[in-house]
Order: sequence, then C-alpha cells, then structure tokens
Amino acid sequence: MKFVGRCNYDQKIIQFFDNFSPENEYVIWGCGNAFRIIYNDIGSVLKIKYCVDANTKLQGTTLYGNQIVAPEYLFRNDKKNIKILMTPVGYKMMSICETLIDNGFDEGNFCSAFDWLTLYKYHYQNILSLQEITLVCTTLCTLNCKGCCAYVPYHKRNRHFDLKTIIHDIDSFFSVVDFVSVITLGTGEVLLYPHIIDVLNYIYENYKGRYGDILIITNATHVPKPDIMETLQRVDCHIKISEYESIGSRCKIHKLSNAFERYHIDYHTEKLFGTETEIGGLWSDLGDPSISHNKTEEEKALTFENCAVCSRFLHNGRLFYCTPQCGATMGGLYNPQEDECIDFTKPVQKIDILKYHLGIQPSGYIPFCDRCDGLGIVANPKTIAAGQQLRKKDNDVEAIYG
Ligand code: SF4
Ligand code: SF4
Repeated sequence: MKFVGRCNYDQKIIQFFDNFSPENEYVIWGCGNAFRIIYNDIGSVLKIKYCVDANTKLQGTTLYGNQIVAPEYLFRNDKKNIKILMTPVGYKMMSICETLIDNGFDEGNFCSAFDWLTLYKYHYQNILSLQEITLVCTTLCTLNCKGCCAYVPYHKRNRHFDLKTIIHDIDSFFSVVDFVSVITLGTGEVLLYPHIIDVLNYIYENYKGRYGDILIITNATHVPKPDIMETLQRVDCHIKISEYESIGSRCKIHKLSNAFERYHIDYHTEKLFGTETEIGGLWSDLGDPSISHNKTEEEKALTFENCAVCSRFLHNGRLFYCTPQCGATMGGLYNPQEDECIDFTKPVQKIDILKYHLGIQPSGYIPFCDRCDGLGIVANPKTIAAGQQLRKKDNDVEAIYG
C-alpha cells in the first residue's frame, strides 16, 4: 500500500491503519542489514509471526528469536489475511512486491516496513522518523561513470561544498526531523572531501541518538589517511564499498578492506558487474537530464509511481526527492521549480516533510520526472552497463545524448 503520487492523505491514513493496525500479527520479509536497523523499533510495537528470506543460508535459522522461513512457506500457509512488512528498499522491494502479487497477495497485504514505522511513529507518537537521508558534501569523483544517477561526469563544475553550509543543512534537518535510520554522506567520492572529519564529528557530537547509522559509499579508488580512519572508527561509521572491476589497477579494494579491518571499521562490499550480481551488472538509463523527455501527464505519474528511488537528498538548504533531481541541480543542468523541494529557509512542519518523503504530490509526480526515465526495471526498461567509464572528453551531456 503506497502513498505515492496524487492521494488524499487524510483519507488514506485511516485506510492504512485499518489495514495495517499495530494490533495485527506481522510477517517480516527480509532479514538483512535493514532488518537490523529497524528491529528495535518494529519489534517493540508489533507481534512478529515469523520472518521470510529468500537466502537459503538463513532459512531454518532464527533472528532475534524469530523463525526464518522460505517465501514458499508464506505462499503455502498464509494467503488471505496476513500482513507483510518488507525491509528491503528500492528495486529489491519492488521485486518482492511483484513476487507477492504473482502469488495471489495484494496491496492490502504488504507495505514497506520503513513506511509503516514512519507513519506509526508520526500518528501514534508525534515523532518524525525517516528511513534515510543523503547529505551532499562533494560532487568530485575519481571515476567517470556513464550511467551515474547523480550525473556527476556531466556537471558543469564539480566541487567540494562549503563546510558551514553542510553544518547548516544538518541543523535545519534535525530542527524538524526527530530521527533518521541512516545518514549517508554523498555523492561523488566522499572520502576525498577535505572536511569529512569535521562533518562526521559534528553529526556524532551533536546528534548521536537522533540517527541509527552513518553510511559512506566509496568506489574503492582511494585509501583514506589514518586521521580519517580513526574518525570513521570513533563515530562508528559503516562503509559500503562498490566494486568497479572494470577500472583495473585503480581498484584498491584489497588495500581498502585491509585498512578497514585494521581499524575495526564495519564495511561490506557490493559487486557492480556480472549477471550474478544483485543488479545484474546493469543500471537504469535515465536519459538526458538537460531537456524535456516530452512525457504526457500520465507517463510522468506512472514513472514516478513505479520508480525505485529511495533516498532523499539534503543540499544547500533544500530537501530533494531523489538523486537525479539533486544531481542535475548541483551540476547546473536543471533548475527546480519553486515548490519542487522542501525549502528550509521557509517555515517547515513535520507533516510537510512526511508527505514529501512519502511521495505525495498534487500533480502525481515531481517536475524533474519529465527529464528522467526512472530507476529500476518496473519504471524503466532501458538499461546501461554498470560503471562503464567515459573518457574525460566525452563528459558532455550533448555528446552522450544529443
Ligand atoms: S556512479 Fe561513478 S561517477 Fe557517479 S559518484 Fe559513483 S563512482 Fe562517481
Ligand atoms: S526524477 Fe522521478 S523518475 Fe527520476 S528518479 Fe526521481 S522520482 Fe524517479
């Protein structure tokens, strides 16, 4: 059950809690990292019947005392009235939705665990708790990926952003939002950002207890100096290493993972290439961000509804709905409409952020959907090889798309 697009929030919220009441018994689908992030909150308010995971290594084991079963167990035993909360986000969640629909469930049966928790906390406890925010620190990157969803190679000017503005963004965000499960630092190669220690220390010292995890995604081309490693360890930062095999000797993944292990920094690796990877070695081809794609109103609303995007972006006093919209704006390729983002220089209420975060838009989409064909196979069948590198002179939007 989704709130995305045109929807009457007040009516839908009543329907939502009729369907997904805290009194129900729930099945949780997905026992990975996201479940760990959300468990304390979900487990304290809900009755969990059992957990489902497609990973055969987890099936038959228990997690926080809950039995983990295969999806087939759910399909066989719990068709009609069961309520399912899905912990994966983005394209992984979209694919679980499809599997559930193929097996006879409908939107009255399942919803995102993070959305459920956000709505529960807001309506039952007056707490605004979001799933993830990306805090933009830099658009400089060591790689030059053709399908970069922040359009980094095509930016008119790549730069590190001013520390004062970033700190102001953090304060503005937490002046309205009570809690966020994950703060990701983005969006080029953030380990190169010269004030990364200050940003990490500022978040940790001022907002510890207001977030679950700090996450950094790195392309493994750069091993940080000891003072950065010590800070990453001190603030308990989690690192996701994207493995770009195609860049040959520039890939420092072994050196980097050894360094993280030496400093006891929590990290995991995500492979980007090959059909055996979770993304099948493919990214969505978003198209040219600098021009209209001439979509009809219905096409824009449909792309928005089906888009697998999941992280909101915080940059220069504004909250952006998605990576491409923020990336194109930072790169001088797009100028958002006046009410397209949440503007922290104006008064902002919790409900404004909640509705924006959920994707409630009077038009049914955000205006940038006219220039972006969407993330994930459900919204957008066009794909591009993951991490394909451009030569420097190809970094021109017109040269690529024109
Ligand atoms: S996708 Fe490639 S170009 Fe874009 S930020 Fe990541 S590593 Fe840099
Ligand atoms: S602009 Fe629209 S279609 Fe593109 S990623 Fe954002 S929400 Fe999805």
